[in-house]
Order: sequence, then structure tokens, then C-alpha cells
Amino acid sequence: MFTDLYSPLQQLRHARLSQLWIKRDDLIDPYISGNKWRKLKYILEDASTKGKNHLVTFGGAYSNHLVATAAAASRSGLKATAFVRGEQVNNEMLVLCSLYGMELIFTDRETYKDKTACYTAYAEKHADTYFIDEGGASAEAVRGCAEIITELPGDTAHLFCAAGTGTTAAGLLQGIQKAGLTAKLHVIPVLKGGEFIRDEIAQYVPVTDQLVLHTDYHFGGYAKTKPDLLKFIRDFTAAHGILIDPVYTAKLFFAIYDLAEKNYFREGEKIIALHTGGLLGIMGMKDKLI
Ligand SMILES: *Cc1c(COP(=O)(O)O)cnc(C)c1O
Repeated sequence: MFTDLYSPLQQLRHARLSQLWIKRDDLIDPYISGNKWRKLKYILEDASTKGKNHLVTFGGAYSNHLVATAAAASRSGLKATAFVRGEQVNNEMLVLCSLYGMELIFTDRETYKDKTACYTAYAEKHADTYFIDEGGASAEAVRGCAEIITELPGDTAHLFCAAGTGTTAAGLLQGIQKAGLTAKLHVIPVLKGGEFIRDEIAQYVPVTDQLVLHTDYHFGGYAKTKPDLLKFIRDFTAAHGILIDPVYTAKLFFAIYDLAEKNYFREGEKIIALHTGGLLGIMGMKDKLI
């Protein structure tokens, strides 16, 4: 592969939790945001096995997945095209996609809904295309995320991650089951009505009581924030020197801190938070953050 994966496990100081650790997938690469690399790894392998040299994918204008795919494609010598949801816009994320040579096709919301139709029409006119779903959701992505478990200590009691589509969570649960660990997987959906994540996960792996959903930390919905979340981001970053993003990882850490406050954990239990990255977009939210 074009890049060696390195993701340290780092302890976090916390007044109530003596064993709080953070799996720094955010450090894997600045542009291939942590879990997006985990997801793309076997997708790229599959594309290559099938002799496809042109990735075609989907996402919103602030998608970490699009930047990750653009960067990974260019480093692997592949072409990349993205159907971008909504009218033409410009932002720092799309600039990166563009610099990495990704073709951007802005697509109105109605047309975008039928991704298969978008892809089929495009594939008819271009050779050797390879379909990648929005956010990279796929069995290959689940397999890539499951590997994270092999890099974690066997005595982990609680593993936490944020969820958008639930693909990363499905991989973590798969990895936990494969390794026969007793760890609980705690998932923080960043969207409102996060119960749907259970069904998403169940598409890939049998859901057991090892899965715990915490659906009350969405702060109003996807990419929505509240003053206490923004304050949490500032305090956390200043205290630890670790950036977190308002969309995913801030909600994740807020949840852990809140549960600790409510004495959810037993003394000495090993708790690991997966930092999935997602830091590229934060400058686009600067007006909210300061
Ligand atoms: C995309 C993303 C997620 C969500 O992952 P899913 O597999 O869709 O649940 C979480 N964190 C960050 C930083 C992301 O970019």
C-alpha cells in the first residue's frame, strides 16, 4: 500500500477516569481522514483486483470521504470522479478534491437520490469505473474498520466511536466478535433519531448486547452544534492539545465525559475512544468556534 498505517494509542488525563485512552486514527494521514482510510483500504484493493482504474463516488460538499478518496486515488495512480450533492459551491474541502485531480460533478438533490442511475449513466461513457457508495459504505469498509480491533488491548472494557452511517461501528463490532473480546461497543450517532444505526450495523454483523447506542448526544442533528458543545471543544483542545471536530468526534468525547460525570463506568475500567479524524472541515466552521 502507498502509506504505512500508524495510529498510536495515547492516554488522556481525566479527573474521574484513570484508564481513558484515545486511538489516534486522526494521525494516520492529514487528508485521508482516519476512518475513511480504514474504509478505503480494501475498496482500493478490490478495485485493483478487478482491474478498475477509475473510482466514482458520492458525497456532500463537506464530505471527508470525498477528500480521502481524491487523495487516495491520486496516490494510487487512479482517476477519481465525485457526484457532489447540491448546486455548485466552492469550499476548502472541494479545493483539496480538485487539487488531487478529482472530477467534481455537482448534482441536484433529486437526481443525486438515485446514485445507481447516476453511476450507470457515467459508466456507460467511461472505461474501467468502480462504484464507491457515499461515505465508502461497503463490506470492504467494514472489513477495514474491523482491523482496528487488532491494534487495541485485549482488556478493553469500553470502546467508543461516533457514527454517521454506522459502517465504522459495524466493523468495530465485527472485529470485537472475531477476536472474542468482551468489550462493549458504545456508539454515538451524530444524527437525530440515531436508533436507525442498529439496523445499519445489522446489515453487516449480528447485533448482540455488546452494542450500546447513546442516542442523546446529537446536539440537534447532523453538523448541528450548541454552545455547550463548542465550549467543550475549546476546553478539550486546550487541555489535551488534540483537535476534535464539531460534527463527529466532539459529540463522541462529550458523551464519554458526560457518562463519566454520571458515574457510568466502574473504577479502573479501560475505556478507549476512537478518534476518527475529520479535522479538515473545522476551519470552515471558524465563525462558530471562536
Ligand atoms: C465519516 C466520519 C464518521 C462516520 O463514520 P460512519 O462509518 O459513516 O459511521 C465518523 N467520524 C469522522 C471524523 C468521519 O469523517
